Amino acid sequence: MSAELNQPVPRPGILDIAAYVPGKEHAEGVAKVYKLSSNETPLGASPKAMEAFKAAASNLEIYPDGQATALRQAIADVHGLNMANILCGNGSDELLGLLCHVYLGTGDEAIITEHGFLVYKIQIMGAGATAVTVKEKDCAIEVDAILAAVTPKTKMIFIANPGNPTGTYAPVSEIRRLQAGLPKNVILVLDAAYAEYVRKNDYEAGLELVSGNGNVVMTRTFSKVYGLAALRVGWMYAPAAIIDALNRVRGPFNMNAPAIAAGAAAIRDQSFMQQAVAHNLEWLEKLNNAFTDLGLTVTPSVANFVLIHFPDTDGKRAADADEFLTRRGFVLRAVRGYGFANALRMTVGSEEANLGVISALKEFMGKA
Ligand SMILES: *Cc1c(COP(=O)(O)O)cnc(C)c1O
Repeated sequence: MSAELNQPVPRPGILDIAAYVPGKEHAEGVAKVYKLSSNETPLGASPKAMEAFKAAASNLEIYPDGQATALRQAIADVHGLNMANILCGNGSDELLGLLCHVYLGTGDEAIITEHGFLVYKIQIMGAGATAVTVKEKDCAIEVDAILAAVTPKTKMIFIANPGNPTGTYAPVSEIRRLQAGLPKNVILVLDAAYAEYVRKNDYEAGLELVSGNGNVVMTRTFSKVYGLAALRVGWMYAPAAIIDALNRVRGPFNMNAPAIAAGAAAIRDQSFMQQAVAHNLEWLEKLNNAFTDLGLTVTPSVANFVLIHFPDTDGKRAADADEFLTRRGFVLRAVRGYGFANALRMTVGSEEANLGVISALKEFMGKA
């Protein structure tokens, strides 16, 4: 036996994966911390979702419903969908992973874009496939560039719409053009994690594209606007054949009971969700204006975060701002791993947090 095989060895490619680094939560030595690093809603979860979660504590010895029926029914009711086409997951991250493990293997390619969500690449590589990265233009996806990258090996394309960390979106006409240009065996994954926040007439999350085609899936999450990030609730709307394939591989009880109950209650409380959207719309504009007035460049966002670009000047770069803000308890997200060496992503927070960041950046930019 050779010496190298005296220990367990992961499949080729696994050790090339750079593990996901979540947003920071702490600021050393600071009493009050405003976590603006992971796009969680400042309004928290619906009180009805919290009640449902607490009620679930009385039956912890019972296995959850492996079909997550109550949650799938609630999603189907609210969105007007057939629940047979809905699959829930332990966060949409789980569903993205399942798609890769079921449809990708060694020798396959999957397309991601320059500033795309890092989970895609991790899951593609985890399945043994190759991630092909396509350039973006002005922080937005380019359909022609993506189509040009399709080869006979391409099996999947990941688009976050709106994008994270850019906050930009592609109009539905462009997404349709992308789908129309793809071979029928290539799955177009539309990750609509921030769909609820978008208020644009030419935006669609992807429901119709999924209904009308055999090769489009849409993923959604309860982690952002619904305030259930801690519980891990995501869902996918997909053609029956894709749901069937994923159902064969997923954990039989991949959704826990408190998550199913809280998720169903959360999505049925649409008025609470709309409050979060209204708060966001108001502050998205205010933050954008305030930062622009300070001479900073902000990528136009339709989501619940803004990408702030800093000057290329000593002492004024993103890393300096990150340190300056963290010392004051404002924890934003460094986005170097997303191809932005000199920018920070800020989640739209509470009024107090937003005003605090504005005033801190005013000081940082020497305009206080
Ligand atoms: C936050 C986010 C998700 C959600 O992931 P969960 O696993 O559902 O918490 C998915 N995609 C993008 C682009 C995100 O930013």
